[in-house]
Amino acid sequence: MNCLRCNTPNEEGAKFCRNCGMDMSYTPSKENVNSKSADTLLIIFISIAFISVIAQFAIQKLVDNWYESPTKYIQGSLWLLQNLSFILIPLSMKNKNLKIVGLIITVIMVIYWVYTNVEFMTR
Ligand SMILES: [Zn+2]
Repeated sequence: MNCLRCNTPNEEGAKFCRNCGMDMSYTPSKENVNSKSADTLLIIFISIAFISVIAQFAIQKLVDNWYESPTKYIQGSLWLLQNLSFILIPLSMKNKNLKIVGLIITVIMVIYWVYTNVEFMTR
């Protein structure tokens, strides 16, 4: 059984690490592991949302007739990606209250975006 802190091999059943004194009965709880993976997901979704917003903005600035095909469809896919990550951001939040508030804001934003973009995409 190796010490979690310094990785020194210790006798099976030892209470403390013979090298650093770490409590050998300590095991990282499941909750800890779960919240870590939720954090990672949150960062990934925020990055996706951020990148797609920037990309969309850049296309609008750099391409003159971006509202014509094919850039119109690139914009449409970026917009979908963006909405998807905005939905997933509150879902991966740990705090229940934040999660609920985030979901409500997201739903309102998505409904608004769907309304304005569907009108635009079908024009
Ligand atoms: Zn140790």
